[in-house]
Amino acid sequence: MLEQVSARVWVTTSPTWLTTSSVVVADDGACLLVDPALTPADLVSLQGELTGRGWHVAAAFSTHPHWDHVLWSEALPDVPRWATPGAAVASTDEELAAQAARDLPGHRWDVVGGTTPLPPDTTELPWTGLRAAVVATPGHAPGHASLHLPGEGVLVAGDMLSDVEVPLLDDDDDAVDAYRRSLQRLADVVASCDVVVPGHGRVADGAEASRRIDADHRYLDDLTAGVDPLDARLGEPRVRAEHVAQAARLGAERR
Ligand SMILES: [Zn+2]
Repeated sequence: MLEQVSARVWVTTSPTWLTTSSVVVADDGACLLVDPALTPADLVSLQGELTGRGWHVAAAFSTHPHWDHVLWSEALPDVPRWATPGAAVASTDEELAAQAARDLPGHRWDVVGGTTPLPPDTTELPWTGLRAAVVATPGHAPGHASLHLPGEGVLVAGDMLSDVEVPLLDDDDDAVDAYRRSLQRLADVVASCDVVVPGHGRVADGAEASRRIDADHRYLDDLTAGVDPLDARLGEPRVRAEHVAQAARLGAERR
């Protein structure tokens, strides 16, 4: 199930929305989980696979506060689960639990719980494994952050740089500009990366990630110009529906 994408990083992909979970493995077998997903059974089998390899979960990171990126399971140990201050969710977030129950029933939200905010302006995750730089990339969701593993040449992008989803914007008035700035920030990071893991979709090499950055800029250009984008990712009905909704929202703001 786990696919090795660099010396110390493995990825597993759920067939639903091609949702990825990333596992960063330190030399002593301590693992950092990034956005573990997606079904309760997926999380149980992920823990089983880690145990089978002699690894143990030491910490986790949630890239942003959408329900499919904050998940946890009874099978996984009680470890620090960090998010940026803007992305941390409370264990009492009923709206998030309701969205999860609607989209993919089965998660027990009393088990999923909440995430812990990192101190403001944290630049690296406070774990003893390999260096993991927190790259602020707002625009998709509050506090959205990507994780750069410079020693591995890996970027875990969160819900950006996808080959199956166009840029999906949060409700903030500044979201388009924030998203563009985040793409520019990621372009600098991608220049030194061999592997880019999107939250949904296929793992990319640096060249493919750069193509996705260009495609995302083109999509945002068309979206803000009120032009129907020629983008293959819109062939998927779910993504098309999200696009239509955000195009309508931006159109209403312009009027
Ligand atoms: Zn998301």
